Amino acid sequence: MTYDRLVCASCAAPVSEGRCPVCRANRERLQQESFLGGLNPMALIALLAVLVAAVALLAHQTV
Ligand SMILES: [Zn+2]
Repeated sequence: MTYDRLVCASCAAPVSEGRCPVCRANRERLQQESFLGGLNPMALIALLAVLVAAVALLAHQTV
C-alpha cells in the first residue's frame, strides 16, 4: 500500500507514524481497507473452489 507515503493534514507527519489521533484514525481505516481488499479475492476463490467441488461431487453421484 502507498498509505505510508501519506502526510497528515493535522500534524504534517507521515500518517504511518500515527503521531496524532487523525493519523491513527486514517491509518486504521486504510489498513482495514487494504485488509478487506486482500480478503475479497481470496473469499471469491474459496467460494469458486467449493462450487466446483460441489458440482464435481453431484456429477459423480448421478453417474
Ligand atoms: Zn497527524
